[in-house]
Amino acid sequence: MSPEDFRRHAHDLVDWMADYMEAVEEYPVRAQTAPGEIASKLPETPPEAGEPMERIFEDFKSDVMPGITHWQHPRFFAYFPANSSPPSVLAEMLTATLGAQCMLWQTSPAATEMETRVLDWLRQMTGLPQGLTGVIQDSASGAILCALLTAREKVTSWKANEQGLGKQPVLTVYTSNQTHSATEKNVKIIGLGRENLRLIDVDDNFALRPDVLEERILADKAAGCIPTCVVASIGATGVGAVDPLRAIGEICERHGIFLHVDAAWAGTAWLLPEQRWMLDGIEYADSIVFNPHKWMLTNFDCSAHFVRDPDALIRTLSILPEFLKSREQGAVIDYRDWSVPLGRRFRALKLWMVIRSYGAEGLGKIIRKHIDLAAELEEWIEGEPDFEIVAPRSLALINFRYHPAGVHEPEVLDRLNAALLERINDDGRIYLTQNKVRGRAAIRFSIGQTNTEQRHVREGWDVVTEIARSLKTGL
Ligand code: PLP
Repeated sequence: MSPEDFRRHAHDLVDWMADYMEAVEEYPVRAQTAPGEIASKLPETPPEAGEPMERIFEDFKSDVMPGITHWQHPRFFAYFPANSSPPSVLAEMLTATLGAQCMLWQTSPAATEMETRVLDWLRQMTGLPQGLTGVIQDSASGAILCALLTAREKVTSWKANEQGLGKQPVLTVYTSNQTHSATEKNVKIIGLGRENLRLIDVDDNFALRPDVLEERILADKAAGCIPTCVVASIGATGVGAVDPLRAIGEICERHGIFLHVDAAWAGTAWLLPEQRWMLDGIEYADSIVFNPHKWMLTNFDCSAHFVRDPDALIRTLSILPEFLKSREQGAVIDYRDWSVPLGRRFRALKLWMVIRSYGAEGLGKIIRKHIDLAAELEEWIEGEPDFEIVAPRSLALINFRYHPAGVHEPEVLDRLNAALLERINDDGRIYLTQNKVRGRAAIRFSIGQTNTEQRHVREGWDVVTEIARSLKTGL
């Protein structure tokens, strides 16, 4: 494709992108296609000859778009948001155009130096303490992996890397029973063994109980295990539970345990001074992650990972074959040593553009609006006799359940809520996610798309009550 053709197609695509942003509300939020429907439109064999971009783009619109779930739809209330914004999309276009692979300082000094700078901006914007150094990881899961690996190496004096786990004592990891499954997955990946992951009980607010944590640590020590890492959650996925960092941090300090804080979703709320109560005790953390790619208007992937001791992380991951040596080594940051993949995209650019475009204040206003909208939704739910809130609202996340008068059997209620959710998501006007709270079915309503306004939440709640009423008549 010649530069002139590229210019023409790019203009067409940008026009389409701007139209999409304007019209996204007209799409069903969740793709309404059946399994295999999109695959059936894609030829089984690759084209022998190149095809014109016009035809490819027509096929994108007719064959691909129906299979897209619209995460940037303002009535997307499922999972946690993976929101985006025009400045972030523009940055992604530049990143793609440059196509730089930024594994070493030398392979794009601007990418490295900007990453260091914008991560420190983020640290300041979120009220995180000085003395933390940031790196962009692909995901919160990737950051947890790095944290667990560093913890493993620290407690074994870097012997696990050399000798393997077979020669080490049993290493144990602690987290609440509300924590995202990424911790369990990583415990498996790094070979610690799922049976050495301790899921600690929670209190009435679904927060990890420090007394139970310490009891478990003492019991493990007595049994000859080495307590290695605690993963605390700020905004756990199910109901958004916030663990008590100070109490957990004191325990970690007493027992020499590495503390990782997973704030993948909720960390963005630290932009707001009134939400920084969650940070009480953060000075004990060895490692903290939150995802601007969830709630901070920055396209996936972009996880902000802060570490207290970068040397420990580098020592854990560093490996230096001849071809990766560079003249500047030691005098500059080579981010290849800070994460599992060697190659890295220029991800700092989108953060830089988003932060400069909105400013810390502009971003904070949007987050505060989402939280206020959730508080309003909470009042509407409380005002509906056939519904109940099943866990305290956490920031912009609410778990509720349909509980019509006269229906008491827990299994019947579970089935009813599962049916309600299915009908809601098949309807297409909104998108919600199922949950289990204290073992019983619940529905999560998570607000956080960049352009969500009060009318979208109102429409969302009206859809829930309308479909619930139609179910009730069929009971
Ligand atoms: N931690 C929490 C609390 C999450 O909610 C999620 C995902 O929703 C993750 C970790 C995993 O995030 P990622 O997709 O960035 O690995």
